Amino acid sequence: MKGKFYDIQGFSVHDGPGIRLTLFLKGCPLRCLWCHSPESQAFPTQLNRMEVKCTGTETCGRCLPACPTGAVKPGRKKKALAGEGEITLVRVDRTLCNDCGKCAEVCPSKALYLCGTDLSVDEAMEKVRRDKPFYDSSGGGVTVSGGECLCQPDFLLALLTACKAEGIHTAVDTTGYADWSVIERILPYTDLFLYDLKHMDSAKHARGTGVPNERILENARKIAAAGGKMQIRIPVIPMYNDSTEDFDAAGRFISDLGAAVEMTQLLPYHSLGAIKWERLDREGPRVEAAPPTDQLIQARKSQLEALGLCVTIH
Ligand code: SF4
Ligand code: SF4
Repeated sequence: MKGKFYDIQGFSVHDGPGIRLTLFLKGCPLRCLWCHSPESQAFPTQLNRMEVKCTGTETCGRCLPACPTGAVKPGRKKKALAGEGEITLVRVDRTLCNDCGKCAEVCPSKALYLCGTDLSVDEAMEKVRRDKPFYDSSGGGVTVSGGECLCQPDFLLALLTACKAEGIHTAVDTTGYADWSVIERILPYTDLFLYDLKHMDSAKHARGTGVPNERILENARKIAAAGGKMQIRIPVIPMYNDSTEDFDAAGRFISDLGAAVEMTQLLPYHSLGAIKWERLDREGPRVEAAPPTDQLIQARKSQLEALGLCVTIH
């Protein structure tokens, strides 16, 4: 059994307590308008194209004949960085591309690369063990994130079980959008859930993420009732979920979860992930608003704190 990863990041300090290794599993059933990680959405391995790294078809062009389907084509021209004239970049016709990676194999500058790595539990645990001294000294551990890691339930369960067998603290970063049976299975091996709360109104939740919220809210209640621990994460999206009324509803829901919630984190929207959409030749985030101001974030933090919640800002 293998898990499909799109990234692994060491020395993470924002995904749970202490110093952590965060493993990002690929694939997600949500389509959030503000998504910062579009490479995480699809389940299969995908070709990415980082145009800025391409040195041009005039001096390279290796990817063109390497592609068996003719998907790589000469693209736009840009001014050469060194010397006179222009260079021709490449583009990928996504209707012809099957993500085989043959172009990436020959690209010397890694302008073309595959996103998606298959690892067994043993292979993932080799990486996990390397940082164990840091977990032990900082009260950290492993966080499994995504995408939506609950979409690879058997692998997730096996990985969490292996971590706990070696005394490693585990966190699961999730949208909560999964069958309860999946969460119930991993609960005994999950020390902490990093649990997203995007909107309390189901229709608005569906408008922003592509799915309604009933299952998500119900799963949060069930985790709390089953004795699980949670950090609630609210991405603060301008003109979507940042009003006083929105936070009043979210705050009441979180309060009702009781002692299960150790902390609530506010994640102000930013547009730094926009470039990642271009790498997949996809249209970028459809949030047409400036990031929330510090003043607004502080006001929402105070609003939740007035309900007795412990709140941090990322
Ligand atoms: S991934 Fe394969 S099909 Fe797609 S552009 Fe590269 S070589 Fe062609
Ligand atoms: S192989 Fe890479 S660097 Fe060379 S032309 Fe193709 S994308 Fe550009």
